[in-house]
Amino acid sequence: MPSVLDEPVNLLGLGAAELTDLVGQWGGKPFRAKQLQRWVHQRGVDSFDDMTDLAREFRQQLAQHCTVHAPGVATEQRSSDGTRKWLFDVGRNNAVEAVFIPEDDRGTLCISSQAGCTVACPFCSTGYQGFNRNLTTAEIIGQLWYAKRVLEADLQSARLGSGGAAPAEPTRVISNVVMMGMGEPLLNYDRVLEALRLMLDDNAYGLSRRRVTVSTSGVVPMMDRLGRDCPVALAVSLHAPNDALRDKLVPLNRKHPLAELLAACNRYLEHAPRDFITFEYIMLDGVNDADEHARELIAIAKQVRCKFNLIPFNPFPQSGLKRSPTARVRLFAQRLMDAGVVTTVRKTRGDDIAAACGQLAGDVKDRTRIHERLPNRGTIVINQERE
Ligand code: SAH
Ligand code: SF4
Repeated sequence: MPSVLDEPVNLLGLGAAELTDLVGQWGGKPFRAKQLQRWVHQRGVDSFDDMTDLAREFRQQLAQHCTVHAPGVATEQRSSDGTRKWLFDVGRNNAVEAVFIPEDDRGTLCISSQAGCTVACPFCSTGYQGFNRNLTTAEIIGQLWYAKRVLEADLQSARLGSGGAAPAEPTRVISNVVMMGMGEPLLNYDRVLEALRLMLDDNAYGLSRRRVTVSTSGVVPMMDRLGRDCPVALAVSLHAPNDALRDKLVPLNRKHPLAELLAACNRYLEHAPRDFITFEYIMLDGVNDADEHARELIAIAKQVRCKFNLIPFNPFPQSGLKRSPTARVRLFAQRLMDAGVVTTVRKTRGDDIAAACGQLAGDVKDRTRIHERLPNRGTIVINQERE
């Protein structure tokens, strides 16, 4: 049982087993833990007094030893296209971001896993800031918990405002979660794993494995673990079709080169809920967008069942890089599709509020002094004069 001297336990960070243990220490049966989990995650309730079907004594114990709280929201912004972005204060001058992207057939929440990132890709503003720390499970799930609560409440009041009746069950606004915000999720493995399990748990967020995506720059050993522990949809940030270029664009490639990464993708596919890996490929003008690169990618696509998602680079001030022209992106996509590779081009959403991929900067106090270690960041442009 937690001692009175302990910090209150934030229930947002507890997986089903830990919650069952906690409740068990007070003599509660496992179904009590499930009830509690539903109050917290499904209904977004943070006051134990409001959890009306729990015994009064149990609620008092909870109030004494536990809390339910997401990181504080420093700012919220809304884009003209409906995208919403929250900046969460995670203490000690660090902030991380989450972005909600509504579409006709789904609502996707993009969340962060670390304050900053050690991988230091030169085209990414998160990487540019350096790294401060891993987020806790409560901070990762807290982004989902908060966004779900706010979005469902807004929908409810919009319905009531337009004279509609409130539905008995809240409508699911967030149908998909992607770990494509700040940080490298597989370098914060244990906490991300716990958060993923909560996303899938029927008593918490009940999302299907196919609708939860981890995006990784290619942390090979952890891809293997994820495949065994909790296979969800996997996106791999490829960004370059050969080691020489990938070493520069995704520095982690020096540790886990392409051949190793592609082999790991194939191993992952043995467990994956989808029968393909999504390769993300950022389109950088004059860097990785030539026909020759497309040819090399086609060779890669023969080795791994995959789909390509081309991401037009979203500029940020210090990068010194440029987005490939739209016509080039289209032609590049066509080259891949002509070779039978399924390819989509990511629509840029929320760029008027700097919520697009790679623009998530939060505010991170860099403990790694990355700028001092990498004085030439921003000079990655290898071949800017393409034609
Ligand atoms: N660290 C993980 C997940 C977070 S980044 C990863 O790298 O996969 C999520 C996606 O945004 C990655 O594909 C990343 O390459 C892409 N991205 C980063 N900076 C970008 C930028 N400036 N413009 C467009 N996409 C960017
Ligand atoms: Fe880190 Fe991903 Fe950004 Fe690279 S793209 S620096 S891995 S967050």
